[in-house]
Amino acid sequence: MDTVLGKTDKLGRTLMHEHLTIDLSAKKDADANLNDDEAMIEDMETLKAHGIDTIVDVTNLGMGRDIARMIAISERSGINVVAATGFYKTTFFPKMVYEKNVEELSTFMINEIVNGIDKTEIKARIIGEIGTSQDAFTNEEKKVFQAAAYAHKITGVPITTHTTLGKLGLKQIELFEKNGVDLEKVIIGHVDLNPDIDYYFKVLEKGCYIGFDTIGKNSYQPDTLRASNLCKLIERGYASRIVLSLDITRKSQLKKYGGYGRSYILESFVPMLLRNGINQKDIDMMMIENPRRVFGGR
Ligand SMILES: [Zn+2]
Repeated sequence: MDTVLGKTDKLGRTLMHEHLTIDLSAKKDADANLNDDEAMIEDMETLKAHGIDTIVDVTNLGMGRDIARMIAISERSGINVVAATGFYKTTFFPKMVYEKNVEELSTFMINEIVNGIDKTEIKARIIGEIGTSQDAFTNEEKKVFQAAAYAHKITGVPITTHTTLGKLGLKQIELFEKNGVDLEKVIIGHVDLNPDIDYYFKVLEKGCYIGFDTIGKNSYQPDTLRASNLCKLIERGYASRIVLSLDITRKSQLKKYGGYGRSYILESFVPMLLRNGINQKDIDMMMIENPRRVFGGR
């Protein structure tokens, strides 16, 4: 198959936490179902025109992952898409998470990494997004994290996490440490939803990456705060441990539906960083070098 999907050797400028076909609507909240592929292709084409080469699609089983649509969106827009394996968090887990043990769940992930997803040749190149609930790390979530740790140790692929409102990242790290995960292959996601900058430093001191990956979600945290916190982190020498993304999960966030669209990151957010004194070299580090390093490239 002639597809750009799944290349990790030439990532280029990369958004590390996105979704092309997510469906968290539970059949009630129609906005939380990204099912307008034409709108998505437009969004990807605009991104491409702004110089984004790759998106990492962290949609997994139970979240509406749809490999056939992912391939079509990638091929039609020319965006390289990296696929993921894993299970999201409690209330969104497929039955399998409750029925199978750690070893069986890790075998499932390893199969998607080594052989391909849903009988296609598209292989998962990252485990994620695997998550914790807001104030609880449930037993099923711990099971998924243990399975992810094992699959990571066998395959060497990185792990990217979901923290609800940026919380419990340190608990996630604790479990990874106990299970022998290489923390330099871990991205703790959504930390930019947590306003506590000391927490960022505690996570970073462990050696993992953090995701400033909800850029544009001003109702949670204003982007002006994201920008000033990024300045402080970069001043302390952490540019090499931060990755950027928007985590668009709703139709209303796309331009076709009146939203800001993913290109917002280059149209508005990066210019804001430059105005705040962050230089282009650091922006390229976060958007090009760090993704390449996470996926094992030099
Ligand atoms: Zn998430």
